[in-house]
Amino acid sequence: MLGLMQNWPLTVDKIIDHANHWHGSREVVSRSIEGPIVRTTYARIHDRAKRLSNALKGLGIQAGDRVATLAWNTGRHIEAWYGIMGIGAVCHTLNPRLFAEQLCYIINHAEDQVIFTDLTFLPILIENRAKLPTVKHFIVMTDEGHMGGFPGALCFETLIDQNSADCAWGGFDENTAAGLCYTSGTTGHPKGVLYSHRSNFLHTLVTMGVDVLGISARDTVLPVVPMFHANAWGLALSGPAAGSKLVMPGQKLDGASVHELLETEGVTFSAAVPTVWQMLLTHLRQTNGTLSTLKRVVIGGSAVPEAIVRGFRDEYGVDVTHAWGMTETSPLGTQATPNAAIAAMGEEEQLRYKLKQGRPPIAIELKLQDDAGVELPHDGTTFGKLKVRGPFVAGAYFRGDGGQILDDAGFFDTGDVATLDEHGFMQITDRAKDVIKSGGEWISSIEIENIAMGHPKAELAAVIGVLHPKWDERPLLLVKLKAGEQGTKDEFLAFLEGKIAKWWTPDDVVFVDDIPLGATGKIDKKLIRDRMKDYVLPTAKAKATA
Ligand code: AMP
Repeated sequence: MLGLMQNWPLTVDKIIDHANHWHGSREVVSRSIEGPIVRTTYARIHDRAKRLSNALKGLGIQAGDRVATLAWNTGRHIEAWYGIMGIGAVCHTLNPRLFAEQLCYIINHAEDQVIFTDLTFLPILIENRAKLPTVKHFIVMTDEGHMGGFPGALCFETLIDQNSADCAWGGFDENTAAGLCYTSGTTGHPKGVLYSHRSNFLHTLVTMGVDVLGISARDTVLPVVPMFHANAWGLALSGPAAGSKLVMPGQKLDGASVHELLETEGVTFSAAVPTVWQMLLTHLRQTNGTLSTLKRVVIGGSAVPEAIVRGFRDEYGVDVTHAWGMTETSPLGTQATPNAAIAAMGEEEQLRYKLKQGRPPIAIELKLQDDAGVELPHDGTTFGKLKVRGPFVAGAYFRGDGGQILDDAGFFDTGDVATLDEHGFMQITDRAKDVIKSGGEWISSIEIENIAMGHPKAELAAVIGVLHPKWDERPLLLVKLKAGEQGTKDEFLAFLEGKIAKWWTPDDVVFVDDIPLGATGKIDKKLIRDRMKDYVLPTAKAKATA
């Protein structure tokens, strides 16, 4: 017997419709690419997104066509998203931090027909125009006065002026594709994750929960995490759904610029990767800055170092929660919000759980398995492959790349190695390919990095496994020191002592000028391993000459 409730397809146009009806005057403030801070409202965004939909239809865009955006977080970018998705076209977010060659690959693979672009990216598009045969139109997200010299490109503001806001949205199946985002592709070509309206809608509802992002109509939300990286963790959907004020930082993500917006706009909630928060903390300390309205930040994308959680908590009274996710999980998969038992613990004991990646909300199923597919215990120490299943987890990649990606039970292998504890808190040990295998045992590079990052002289730290004749691999710690600091191997090893098992102690510490970050702000271990390929550990040399 079927239920008798209304059939109301979960399509994302209804999110901005809701914001328009019930939070129409709520502000969206952006640091524009042209420079000034600009203000709009959900009602205006709704109106302008409808005009863009008509503009796209006028350019021949139909349901299922891919329309890309190459843009920073701004109100205009939100308008483009809803304008594309509302008519059943697929919004393909391009990550401008990728190399030109990768960008071209992705655009061609997706067969994008239109690209919305910020002024910032005109040079790269102009240079590569001939390599993008499927792209019929480029829309520059500015007004006529700032168009720059891209022959044949269309002007965003002119299209909005020229088109009517009378446009029917939705009316299609909720499983219709809404968005496309390619994974960073550390091995092989990047692969496309194709979100549906339903998966986006469900991710929005789940992440609005108080134990997840928990944003409300009273919050002012600053998504530092870019809309081109895993959908800004859904904030361009959950913000309007909740009726939160949104503050969009544009292209300026340095400590001073983020701090300025946090203070002038009265931001209460923000989300970003650890490196952004590290830059903000450094800026605050250098300038004796304060955070007068910020209450909560969510940090994810890479493991959050303890020093950041303590810094925000003790110096600025801001609560940090750690989250884990991936492009394939829309992206939020777990968040380290305390349960009742953890909330009853002392502050220091709670911190142990806050540093883990956290527990799954409703609609995310997690399991740990060994290589033979046997399920592993939730004891907080046994490592295994982390697998995930749920209605906003990828079931296949675009165009079938990578083949079958689910196991027999429908779980997706995240490629992460993790533990699960008795509270259901997951902790990432490493990406499977970054785990250091020493004498048949595993060493977590992430754990050592995070402790080393807490050294007062360290700006960034990375740990990789280096070949060793006896142990297969041993850890090597690379440290980028803060400006003007001098460091020694012994002082860093002494700092780690007692905080990690003795046999985890790196065999060497190398001071470097640069620790490279990849296109999504994570430490680029592949590049580091490449740079260090001729490096030989002193312990390996000793062994070789013994
Ligand atoms: P991406 O799809 O680019 O967002 O990358 C997803 C990957 O980032 C995950 O599979 C993890 O390896 C890593 N990651 C995301 N969040 C965290 C976190 N909080 N701690 C450690 N690694 C993380």
